[in-house]
Amino acid sequence: MTKVDAGTGQTEILSRYLDKDDFLDRYIRRDGSEEDCRLCPYYGKRWSCPPGLPHAYSYLEKYQSLCLVALKVNYSQEVRGKAKDNPEYADQIREEVYESAKRKLLMKLLELEKRIPGSRTLGAGRCILCEHCTREEGKPCRHPELRRYSITGFGLDFGKILEEVFGLPLLWAADGLPEYDVAVAALFF
Ligand code: SF4
Repeated sequence: MTKVDAGTGQTEILSRYLDKDDFLDRYIRRDGSEEDCRLCPYYGKRWSCPPGLPHAYSYLEKYQSLCLVALKVNYSQEVRGKAKDNPEYADQIREEVYESAKRKLLMKLLELEKRIPGSRTLGAGRCILCEHCTREEGKPCRHPELRRYSITGFGLDFGKILEEVFGLPLLWAADGLPEYDVAVAALFF
């Protein structure tokens, strides 16, 4: 586990090695996960996300294992206090700490891909490499060599993965920031 003091929050990286077939069999949702994605404001607005993703079993067919990585950003009581009923501040903190850490995690996984021939990353949520995704204009992806599909876009049960693999309940706060935010990415090899 790696800990980085991020000033306004503390970032932890947790990782687990898993068998790919066991992972898909246990966590792929078979109850209309596409419906969940339709509720996301980024549905159809990022090339990393549904609709249009390949099926997980065929896309990941050639891999045997994966390293599942959870990025956990803990928000201090002081920050959470300031964010309460202050959605602009909460968004700013998420952008500065959480989204920035997700971007760094993606870059690290892409570095690992180069060192492990044939490996492939699934990213932590929507692609955040560009400020404005070209999908919203109906144009091709600007960086197809860097863009990776979202692991949650493949219909995996995110809450169940957090609970069972990392022992972390999925938290949210209706009026500010929860105690922590967690994103999950993976490297398949
Ligand atoms: S790299 Fe840019 S254009 Fe491509 S999916 Fe990501 S945000 Fe969109």
